[in-house]
Amino acid sequence: MTEAVDVLIIGAGPAGLQAAVHAVRKKTSVVVIGRPERSAIYRAHVENYLCVDGVSEGHAMIETGVAQATRFGARLIEEDVLQVEAAEDGTFLVRSEGKKFLATSLIIAIGTAKKKLRVAGEKELAGRGVSYCVDCDCNFYRNAKVAVVGNESAAVDGAITLTNYASEVTLICKELLVSEAMQQRLAESGVTVRHDTWVKEIVGENAVTAVVLEDDSTLEVDGVFVELGSKGPMELATALGVQLDMETFSYIDTNKKMETNIAGVYAAGDVAGQPFQMAKAVGDGCVAGWEAANYVKKMKRQQGE
Ligand SMILES: Cc1cc2nc3c(=O)[nH]c(=O)nc-3n(C[C@H](O)[C@H](O)[C@H](O)COP(=O)(O)OP(=O)(O)OC[C@H]3O[C@@H](n4cnc5c(N)ncnc54)[C@H](O)[C@@H]3O)c2cc1C
Repeated sequence: MTEAVDVLIIGAGPAGLQAAVHAVRKKTSVVVIGRPERSAIYRAHVENYLCVDGVSEGHAMIETGVAQATRFGARLIEEDVLQVEAAEDGTFLVRSEGKKFLATSLIIAIGTAKKKLRVAGEKELAGRGVSYCVDCDCNFYRNAKVAVVGNESAAVDGAITLTNYASEVTLICKELLVSEAMQQRLAESGVTVRHDTWVKEIVGENAVTAVVLEDDSTLEVDGVFVELGSKGPMELATALGVQLDMETFSYIDTNKKMETNIAGVYAAGDVAGQPFQMAKAVGDGCVAGWEAANYVKKMKRQQGE
């Protein structure tokens, strides 16, 4: 059976949940499909979100967000969306693991998955010295020794940022793929650059203590920042014909109303580009939820409902 819904939100992270709060409070029916525990913030310690002073646990923030959105009337389905198609009448057919919906408006808030190094020790030490977000975690590495792994602008920029916090920053980057201007900034930054090698293992019992390099030498560090970029929303976006950013083709292109190139389809949060921060995701979600509800009302007026 296919159920009709006004606003269908794919993703149950900060962007999707905030979108749900705003859309449902504008008296539209709202379904959120996604798994809250898969939100990037779920395992994070957050200390830069306004009005929440001190360090907060990401999972507690998300659980509060879920309670809030559902209390206002949004329905949460903890499944993955498997397929999205545009129907001929401008609505969207969305199929999850166990359900089918016909949605007037769609909000894509699926976040991004950070690319992994795929070396021994990475998974075990994630969150215990292995980080994928310099802006989020730099403050935890004051006066520490850190390594940044990556060879594009995100890695170089991350390494330079870390010089304001850590006592020693080493960038491990085979074949640096950045502009001359960025190479110049790097040269003046105090970052030690290892052009010649790559990380083959991350070592530590309960926290990172070192990385093993390709030549089997060891570099002692307290933290490793993996900055290899993000896996984007390519599949879902391509299936729908949603336009990606022209520069990197990694993020969904939106305007200030979080509208995509397809009428009725909005994107919010990390999937709509940098900065990858909860405050931005929540802001995007607010706008997307608000605008999607307005779109639904406009459609209903046009259909004389
Ligand atoms: C280790 C770490 C620490 C961080 N620390 C901070 C911090 O201190 N401060 C800060 O502001 N930010 C921090 N961030 C960044 C922050 O987590 C993200 O910016 C934020 O979570 C983005 O929200 P989002 O809703 O766009 O995506 P996410 O929170 O990633 O949520 C994505 C949602 O989409 C769902 N989804 C994905 N694919 C599908 C599908 N096919 N079908 C259905 N659902 C799907 C997922 O299940 C999930 O519910 C950190 C991130 C990491 C990884």
